[in-house]
Amino acid sequence: MMYDDSNIFARILRGEIPAKKIYEDDHVLAFHDAFPKAPLHALIIPKGKYINIDEFSKKASEEEIIAFYRAIPKVVEALGLGEKGFRTIANTGPDGGQEVPHFHIHIIGGKNIGPMVSA
Ligand code: AMP
Repeated sequence: MMYDDSNIFARILRGEIPAKKIYEDDHVLAFHDAFPKAPLHALIIPKGKYINIDEFSKKASEEEIIAFYRAIPKVVEALGLGEKGFRTIANTGPDGGQEVPHFHIHIIGGKNIGPMVSA
């Protein structure tokens, strides 16, 4: 599968559509989900063109991977989620329910998120 430059997160990265930014550095952007599933719902994305966690973990440089992981506590702190906790989700592909084909993780909290997966 080829990376689709017209996906919505690519457009956010190019500044074509707005996002409520939480954190940004050379390799990473974090912003609020536009359709939050909980009181706090952030998305963290690499700036590089990676479709999903599988491709990112295979092809990204060590610098990109480290930057991505280091962004997580920055977002957690910005949202004040460290004490109460949160859920981290990376949907991948059709069976994973991934809607936007640019790798992202969800950070979801601000209430008890409930069972891990509802079948
Ligand atoms: P996924 O189903 O894992 O691909 O998640 C995609 C997420 O992107 C969903 O939670 C959407 O609510 C969110 N989303 C879609 N469009 C936007 C947007 N323009 N800005 C921020 N989040 C968005």
